[in-house]
Amino acid sequence: MTDKDHATTETGRDGPDHFVRDIIREDLASGRVTDVVTRFPPEPNGYLHIGHAKSIGLNFGMAAEFGGRCNLRMDDTNPVKEEMEYIEAIQDDLNWLGYDWGGTTLYASDYFQQLYDWAEHLIETGNAYVDDLSADEIRAYRGTLKEPGRNSPHRDRSVDENLDLFRRMRAGEFPNGAKTLRARIDMASGNINMRDPVLYRVLHEAHPRTGDAWCIYPTYDYAHGQSDAIEGVSHSLCTLEFADHRPLYDWLIECLPTPSTPKQYEFARLNLTHTMLSKRKLMQLVKDGVVDGWDDPRMPTLRGMRRRGIPAQAVRDFARDIGVARADSVVDYAFLEFCTREYLNRHALRRMAVLKPLKVVIENYPEGESELLDAVNNPEDEGAGTRPVEFSRTLYIERDDFREDPPKKFFRLAPGREVRLRYAYFITCTDVIRDESGKVVELRCTYDPASRGGDSPDGRKVRGTLHWVNIATAVDAEVRRFEQLFASDNPAAEEDFLAAINRNSKTVIEAAKTEPALAGEPVGAQVQFERLGYFCVDPDSTPGRTVFNEIVSLKDTWKKIQKAQK
Ligand code: ATP
Ligand code: MG
Repeated sequence: MTDKDHATTETGRDGPDHFVRDIIREDLASGRVTDVVTRFPPEPNGYLHIGHAKSIGLNFGMAAEFGGRCNLRMDDTNPVKEEMEYIEAIQDDLNWLGYDWGGTTLYASDYFQQLYDWAEHLIETGNAYVDDLSADEIRAYRGTLKEPGRNSPHRDRSVDENLDLFRRMRAGEFPNGAKTLRARIDMASGNINMRDPVLYRVLHEAHPRTGDAWCIYPTYDYAHGQSDAIEGVSHSLCTLEFADHRPLYDWLIECLPTPSTPKQYEFARLNLTHTMLSKRKLMQLVKDGVVDGWDDPRMPTLRGMRRRGIPAQAVRDFARDIGVARADSVVDYAFLEFCTREYLNRHALRRMAVLKPLKVVIENYPEGESELLDAVNNPEDEGAGTRPVEFSRTLYIERDDFREDPPKKFFRLAPGREVRLRYAYFITCTDVIRDESGKVVELRCTYDPASRGGDSPDGRKVRGTLHWVNIATAVDAEVRRFEQLFASDNPAAEEDFLAAINRNSKTVIEAAKTEPALAGEPVGAQVQFERLGYFCVDPDSTPGRTVFNEIVSLKDTWKKIQKAQK
């Protein structure tokens, strides 16, 4: 298999080239590595979001492209915030995205004993010491970017004393915060991460997997690189905020008898307009009831996107096509919509649904009769075939498709005007019926029997084509339409991100009508409502009432943005 085979998915688009791929190619060519091993290391303290999809796509993508493997490793070193619920959800989301991590989920907590043994090795080689300073004191001693730090008064304890204290830390003799294990590096280093960073802290807290076995836990900086080394990870790909930690990563690997020598590389995290990608802040949206849960269709979580109806393949295409760079950037949300539309255009069946029904009576159509007309299921896919749609004297059209006083360029129905009903006939509006309040409640129309199938019988043209459903066979549906969750295009930069919420982000249409073919669609099915957009069956559906989520409209704002950029 060539690189190209991997980089190309069914969309036929190639992923852009990037520096990580170049590094791996060079490492293979120079012999620094023979097997490409990557890992995706989520901390199980929340649900995965679209930012994680970028990291997932890169890690799994590189492993697949170079015939290697990608591990899924739970970075579960902080028992305070981690839960089994998240561990299960992360695996479920990865399965949904369609990535294969070889069947075995790995856990940093599986390495606690090895990490502990290596910590003793650091003590024995003079590279770590037990400190009694509190967290605040450690901070005060650390210095600033301009000023060097100061040595802790406990820095020069003997190896024996350190070993003894560390073993007693492990045995549970000290309360939380009373002692730490710190690397002995350089309190004057220009890189603050090298000023004797904390490797272990006392934390009397049960762990979701190891229970009460431990009351000291390793820090991220200590656990991460060593876990990489244990797993034989060749390229440890992480986001830019860890660039300053790399010297520490290398220092620890250098000091320890690790079975392999992984290298860390940093890339820019994904930022998306109108979107917040921080588990902590997403959690706040859930806790404050701003959204209806982690899987709310407006959430940028993989759960939310899945419930919304965004196809896994569209997320993968998106993650690949945004590219990988070292410089921070912001991706326009419209690009995610573009990838979604691209996929659904080829795969989603076309159906007719009327969101705001307006009754139409075809006066010259015989009462009590009806007929079946052929409707195309997907013009992009001949194999999808056609289905019969029933036409009769009483129909619903979209209220927005009628105007009594049509403005310029409004080509849909108006008094005296002829339009096409999709797959059916030309109709002309002859009369408008109102209720006492003056609201239009019904249109009287005539149809031209010679225009069956929607074809012009004599070359005369109509400008508008409307979707419709037959009243007698229509089924009820609830339709939930969505806008951006945040009005601000950079909510993370707002002083109070909750104030940037778009209060119109969800609209529920209770009384929509659809053609009967939609009644039996299973949860998760994605369809196009002709002329409206793509919609997905929501799990809230009940046997008599299907609930649809709007996935994305048909309007391609991304193409407009691209044109404007050119
Ligand atoms: P958050 O800031 O949302 O809490 P995190 O970085 O703390 O995210 P982790 O569970 O530690 O979340 O992340 C797992 C992996 O996903 C890490 O390698 C991290 O760098 C990567 N990742 C997280 N957010 C993004 C993002 N927005 N773009 C790209 N990669 C990301
Ligand atoms: Mg993190």
